[in-house]
Amino acid sequence: MAEFLPYGRQSISEEDIQAVVDVLRGDWLTTGPAVQQFENDLAAHTGGTPAVAVTSGTAALHVAYAAAGIKPGDEVVTSPMTFVATAATAALHGAKVVFADVEPDTGNLDVEAAKAAVTERTKVVAAVDYAGHPAELDALGEIAHTTGALLLEDAAHSVGGSWQGRPVGSIADLTTFSFFPTKNLTTAEGGAVVTPDAALLDRARKFRNHGLVRDRAEQRYPDEGGWHQEVHEFGLNYRLPDVLCALGSSQLKRLTEFKKRRAEIHARYTAALSDVDGVATPPSRPGADPVWHLYPLRVLEGRRKALFEHLRGAGIGVQVNYIPAYWHPVFEDLGYRRGLCPNAEAYYEQELSLPLFPALTDADVDRVVDAVRAFF
Ligand SMILES: *Cc1c(COP(=O)(O)O)cnc(C)c1O
Repeated sequence: MAEFLPYGRQSISEEDIQAVVDVLRGDWLTTGPAVQQFENDLAAHTGGTPAVAVTSGTAALHVAYAAAGIKPGDEVVTSPMTFVATAATAALHGAKVVFADVEPDTGNLDVEAAKAAVTERTKVVAAVDYAGHPAELDALGEIAHTTGALLLEDAAHSVGGSWQGRPVGSIADLTTFSFFPTKNLTTAEGGAVVTPDAALLDRARKFRNHGLVRDRAEQRYPDEGGWHQEVHEFGLNYRLPDVLCALGSSQLKRLTEFKKRRAEIHARYTAALSDVDGVATPPSRPGADPVWHLYPLRVLEGRRKALFEHLRGAGIGVQVNYIPAYWHPVFEDLGYRRGLCPNAEAYYEQELSLPLFPALTDADVDRVVDAVRAFF
């Protein structure tokens, strides 16, 4: 049988390996110069917006909500068409998560639905660049700002993308990335928070490192001694080690190449599948320059599960992204009910992510296409 094709996988070069080995032979495994270097390198892809490297995309979201000052009783409006972490990290700060529905074709947070969900208790509107296609960031930012809330962009899928000519990371008040192996670039585990706001950046940096205040000018007891550091607000240890930051810097050198290959594969799928009755291929909005993390095919007429099983049976590692976040029992137990966001639920019922990663060959793509066409 043909080789198993996963839906996503990392692309590691000899240079990546060497970069990690070099750090392992050096003095700093963590809290060293490779961290700042990675943050600087990342900023070159976000229009110069400063970054805080953290241990995962989930940590990045937890840090971003902390920086936004989310407290019990605050509301966070977000999309259900996402990995559960977008909502879970807000809930962990005690926020009430308010799910607003998505656009039926892109799976991104719908502007009108977000507008209707915002109240004076809303502190953050959290959009997700589903599959790597930027959300309606300008309109969503405006909605957030009219009530004094912040726009957070969960860009776990879209590092390296842009919207209306501006790079992802330079648009929202807070942007978060994930560097998990299936994402557009990897540090094994890792993530980052990016923000143009100096106060948010400072709070994010502090939350990443136990809330420690080292600057004497900010300390309550600055004359305690040269060893002294103090905590003003609780934080956690979310520091990304130098070993992984070095991998990240090395990977960033190929982000443009990864993006190009992902776009080619995406276009090849669309060209080969758009005439198939029974599926819908993913659209793109004018002004969007996506980094395609996923190829979300939609399978019509209730045949998604059958096609999933057919492709898995043929050694093709398709995936479903995502179950609406509030279908998770933890949200169900909090009173969230099915039917809340009909577009998201309809999208979920049809969605099937085809294999998409830079090392996928045209022959691999054709094999997936042939298997899909054979099913229909
Ligand atoms: C992957 C992902 C996360 C979480 O990132 P991790 O690095 O796996 O913790 C959050 N949001 C979205 C949309 C993701 O795809």
